[in-house]
Amino acid sequence: MILLKNATFIDWQSLDFSNTNILVEEGIDNKMSFISNGEIEKHKDSEVIDCSGKIVTKSFGVGHHHVYSALSRGMGAPKKNPENFNEILEYIWWTLDKCLDKDMIEYSALTTAIACAKAGSTFTIDHHASPFAVEGSLKIIAKAFDKVGVSHLLCYEISDRDGMDIAAKGLKETESYLKNNQGLVGLHASFTVGNNTLEKAVALMNNYNSGIHVHVAEDLSDQGHCLKTYSKRVVNRLHEFGALNSSKTILGHCLHLDDSEKEIIKDSTAWVVQNMESNLNNKVGYFSGKGLGDNLMLGTDGMHSDMIQSAKFAFFAGQHADNIEYDSAYYRFRNVHHYLKSNNFKGDGENNLVVLDYASPTPLTKDNFYGHFLFGFNSAMVTDVISDGKLIVKNRIMQTVNEDEILKQSGELAKKLWKKMQG
Ligand SMILES: [Zn+2]
Repeated sequence: MILLKNATFIDWQSLDFSNTNILVEEGIDNKMSFISNGEIEKHKDSEVIDCSGKIVTKSFGVGHHHVYSALSRGMGAPKKNPENFNEILEYIWWTLDKCLDKDMIEYSALTTAIACAKAGSTFTIDHHASPFAVEGSLKIIAKAFDKVGVSHLLCYEISDRDGMDIAAKGLKETESYLKNNQGLVGLHASFTVGNNTLEKAVALMNNYNSGIHVHVAEDLSDQGHCLKTYSKRVVNRLHEFGALNSSKTILGHCLHLDDSEKEIIKDSTAWVVQNMESNLNNKVGYFSGKGLGDNLMLGTDGMHSDMIQSAKFAFFAGQHADNIEYDSAYYRFRNVHHYLKSNNFKGDGENNLVVLDYASPTPLTKDNFYGHFLFGFNSAMVTDVISDGKLIVKNRIMQTVNEDEILKQSGELAKKLWKKMQG
């Protein structure tokens, strides 16, 4: 057990503050409880962390990530300078993911899980692609995340973009993973998934009581392709195949939707995940939550693993085109917990906590919490992280794995990957 002494605990839902000691029990979806100073003596065998002057609250979760992009940081320019979104995919991401081998996938997952943990997230929803190393890729990622101690909801990005053989491998990998693990059925996007593959993916979703995880109208070209090829819009197409008939379904981006598509999403139980920085970086437009209902959460789209940063971007860039306010920015940041809990996914129970070292020139109270969250908080405040009751980060140092060794090895694999990409 872990004992967090002298903590200022902030309830992530009510925002109530308590000055207390917290006893955390290890195990998936296990408990935490408040204990009085008098009870501390009884638990002196626990690992004790002095949280004097620090905040303890529920740890965070990433609503949409891409392990596959971990080794891209700092790589050279692509063969052709991309002029639009489709060229960004073709010359950067689809060039990179085709070169990934099993070792690279493993180290991409290890470094991503470490980055998530150190930025305060203990749960990651990932969307993975490695077209020439499909088989077993999800197991490799799951093992790496388990080693670091970050819970996960994975999927393989099924697509026809590299031919029907690789699409079939994606379906097979998904099914073999879903047989024994919690996960989703990943699809790249409407414009790379034909009717046959879409039908099979939704059948898998239904057979395994899962959900679809797909990019939706990230760029206007996805709508253009759908209208031209199927004479309908993207959300209508996905809905007609039944992809939205699950509360586990996650629709990524949702930038270029008309009112009737928004209505379909709002009336469904599906979730939307916003990735503001990625949209800005790809110059595909601005997300707005207007008309989409309340099932909105935030992701990083593989750009980084820092959810406080994602919340800030959603809020600040959202001033341009969104109806996002102080409170709704925080709700979107925290909605991942509602998504996970309402769907009975394991690994995001109350024994997932983060310790924050926050010094402010102004008082922090329940009433002004959102202002501090958006203008004061950052991931450098994260000192300790408890995942499923296990201390995975202590005093900013990983406890479960040797971070230095992993980064050294991932650096070598990154060089190998970049060279392969030039070939
Ligand atoms: Zn994505």
